[in-house]
Amino acid sequence: MSSFDFKETLKNSVDIVRVIGDYVRLQKLGGSARYRGLCPFHNEKTPSFYVHADRQFFKCFGCAKGGDVFSFVMEIEGLGFFEAMKLLAEKNGIPMPAPKPDFDPASRKKASLQDLHEMAARLFQESLFGPRGEPAREYLKQRGVGRKLAEEFGLGFSEPGGGLVRLFQKQGVEEPLLEESGLCLRRTEGPGYFDRFRNRLMFPIWNESGKVIAFGGRTLAEDQPKYLNSPETPIYRKSHVLYNLHRAREGARKSGRMVLVEGYMDVLGAHAAGVKEVVASCGTALTNQQVRAIKRHADRVVVNFDPDQAGANAAERSIQILLEESLQIRVCSLPGGLDPDEFVKTNGAEAYRMELERGPGYFHWLAERARGRFDMRSAEGRMEAFRFLLPAIQKLPDKLERLAVVNDMASYLRVEPGEMLDQFRRAAADRTPPRALDVKIDQALPDLERVLIRLVVHHPGIVADYADTILDLDSFAELASHGILAAALRQIEQQGRLDFTQLQASLTESDAHLLSALFASDTEDVERTHDDPAAQLRACLGKLERDQQQRQRKQLRQLVREAEMRGDLAEALKLMEREKELARLAATQVF
Ligand SMILES: [Zn+2]
Repeated sequence: MSSFDFKETLKNSVDIVRVIGDYVRLQKLGGSARYRGLCPFHNEKTPSFYVHADRQFFKCFGCAKGGDVFSFVMEIEGLGFFEAMKLLAEKNGIPMPAPKPDFDPASRKKASLQDLHEMAARLFQESLFGPRGEPAREYLKQRGVGRKLAEEFGLGFSEPGGGLVRLFQKQGVEEPLLEESGLCLRRTEGPGYFDRFRNRLMFPIWNESGKVIAFGGRTLAEDQPKYLNSPETPIYRKSHVLYNLHRAREGARKSGRMVLVEGYMDVLGAHAAGVKEVVASCGTALTNQQVRAIKRHADRVVVNFDPDQAGANAAERSIQILLEESLQIRVCSLPGGLDPDEFVKTNGAEAYRMELERGPGYFHWLAERARGRFDMRSAEGRMEAFRFLLPAIQKLPDKLERLAVVNDMASYLRVEPGEMLDQFRRAAADRTPPRALDVKIDQALPDLERVLIRLVVHHPGIVADYADTILDLDSFAELASHGILAAALRQIEQQGRLDFTQLQASLTESDAHLLSALFASDTEDVERTHDDPAAQLRACLGKLERDQQQRQRKQLRQLVREAEMRGDLAEALKLMEREKELARLAATQVF
């Protein structure tokens, strides 16, 4: 089977709504085959991202991204076409034909890198439970991680003497890939490579579809750094990946909440306590891309970082970013100065789950921080504290909410509300304007053309008989949708059928946008096919022809008037004759 045939087979057996639904909370639009949600590709507050079940495409009217199920997976997972296909095939249990050797080299490389990571994960796991894994097992025992949890999270052990380079070379892995995988390093003295991770407890890091794409390794000796992470590679973009998101997303979708913790062990601890909707940003400060990934699955975030100074600072930074993406935020500071993992061990799962719900809104948490930082006995100190809160307040998207928070904070910090509002207004004047509003769905097409395009898409066989008539219309080039119609008719003529995705791909960007807009904004009853499509088509063509003639007659009448005013009666008479001719023609119209 060629990869093209396979693509078609696969496309027919996966449902774009189900695939996208794993990444975006979609809402079915009453009675139609359309779904709507917040776009995962740009920042928005009102949904302009549509998925069309019948036509199996998605379209965002905010950022204009759109396409079929493959384009979606490629975009959201950062994959090449081949890997996207592979991923969808695996998820649906459809065997994949072997790739052609000349298949897109970038895709092939990513696929190889992914294979190396799977191999590495297996080796690390074998080592953990093998004879040399004793120190790592001992560490896990101390941290209260049982075998079942360790297996569930694919934990492993990188032996002090390494082993990956040997394994990869035995498997005939090409040399440049060793370094590019981020798992092996080239020796500075002498030839050859060595393992990046040695004598560490290994945490596989997955992408959102559950493939191992990187590792974090915790030292089991006194080596620095304590945690070592994979470098960026073609398959690992640190700023985009959240640890455990592929497991957490289902729970988050159910509860509408995501718990954000700092480290791998915290994720394991919370998961073991039954809080499955838990993620960590691994090895980086929280980024906007990571927050957007959270937002695709939940509206609310509970930030539960370590109680130390570093943790509090990280929480503070994270809040600013979470606010930028307009998430509802609570901050959970566990009593007794414990981190999530320790707290669960000491107080149990139930207590932890309760603490998560009890956390204060982030403003009270921030205000608490401010009170600890500034001298609250002096007016100047209280004002300082308020200024510390200002950036967060200004990030609130709603104006009334901003004012309410200002008031609330004023009384909490015992600052004169008037003075506070003054400060607030001055700062507000410097506020950068909000991003451009989301684009409205394009309704630019006249009804007649909308009907015509629908007929072309739904009844290509019938339309084929009228293709020449449509193309011969004098007014064809003036139609707003003539680009779409021409491309569609060309395809019908050449292939005897119409493939919607192929049509989309052959259009200019603005035409593609128009076409998706048409189908995404259709309601079921509009799309319901006419009893007699051929008759409907003839009616359309007739109408177009009549419109055309009317325009011509109007033009002629205008010319007649101009000729009369010039006194050129001969010309006026000639023009009047032509106008009458057109009128007669209209009366004997075939359509
Ligand atoms: Zn978008």
